Amino acid sequence: MQITAAITHSKGELALETAEVAGPKATEVLVRMVAAGVCHTDAAGIEQFIPVTLPAIFGHEGVGVVEEVGLAVDDLKPGDKVIMTYPSCGVCDYCRDAHPFACDQFNFLAFSGTFKDGTKRFSQNGQDISSFFGQGSFATHAIVDARNAVKVEGVTEDQLAYMCSLGCGVQTGAGMVLNVFHPRPATSLAVFGCGGVGMAAIMAGRIAGCSQIIAVDVNPGRLALALELGATGTVNPKAVGDVVEAIKDLSGGGVHYAAESSGVPQLTLTAVQSLRRLGHACVVSVTGPGTIELPIEPALMNPSCSLTGVTEGGSNPQVFIPQLAEYYKAGLLPIDRLVRFYDFADIKQAFADSHTGVTIKPVLRF
Ligand SMILES: [Zn+2]
Ligand SMILES: [Zn+2]
Repeated sequence: MQITAAITHSKGELALETAEVAGPKATEVLVRMVAAGVCHTDAAGIEQFIPVTLPAIFGHEGVGVVEEVGLAVDDLKPGDKVIMTYPSCGVCDYCRDAHPFACDQFNFLAFSGTFKDGTKRFSQNGQDISSFFGQGSFATHAIVDARNAVKVEGVTEDQLAYMCSLGCGVQTGAGMVLNVFHPRPATSLAVFGCGGVGMAAIMAGRIAGCSQIIAVDVNPGRLALALELGATGTVNPKAVGDVVEAIKDLSGGGVHYAAESSGVPQLTLTAVQSLRRLGHACVVSVTGPGTIELPIEPALMNPSCSLTGVTEGGSNPQVFIPQLAEYYKAGLLPIDRLVRFYDFADIKQAFADSHTGVTIKPVLRF
């Protein structure tokens, strides 16, 4: 069928054009897109830091309504509302052990541009077009494997539009806290970086009953919002001399948990140094240029601390996303506070506002 999509023909380009999408193969569904979040990983693909074969249709935080299902799909039907999430193969050791975020095939399924059989679903004038993350949700319709389409019930399309980032950014931030840390109540949490991922970590810290949640960011507006969303204190690295000392002062000697979502390499070390003994730090972001050296003995071994790296919040999306949806519906995960809607035609503005930080979570409406 004919669709409108934002097509990247060459590095950095986003052109709204007419294209074609094929019907779903056996395990796939065709989704009419209701909305799609803009994530930094899309920009990394469009700019070719992630070398997805071009032309390509990016977008990996799509939500929509199922229109057609493949012959082997038995858990979705036309009319179902779905949140699309990251792809996984379902048959490797990690998928079979309920850790699809560590899937053997993740890089192939997310970044090769093809589906698991090596073929593509989008095309234009007979030329194949890559999908991103097994979605390509910057399009009015897209094909997705049923494994990475999670059904949500009891929401309108307008409510669904706020839930895009449950599929990636919120899943990553909330999962870091709820799936990796499993905080005991009345513990302390520091969150480095107050973008969409960090804000989700703050909200999840409140859900888990953390009594002290310290937000760390250089943007005063974001720190003010973090306080409204559950943070109990803030540290602005531009305003304090020593971030580690400031966190230790606030927390009485160091935090139980430190969540690094900023992507600044140095802050992984800062997060570890901000821990109390037996503390646990986690890093979830692709770091920017530069490396740090982590002194294992004084930073980790001697104080018996741990550092975990994890993708997609360590989540099993078919289980975790419905939980997050319930938290959202109950008002416990106010992700709507992060969202600003843009018409699909304004996709370039949405990316510009994401880049400058004017908008925490730009969401395109179709
Ligand atoms: Zn797998
Ligand atoms: Zn993402």
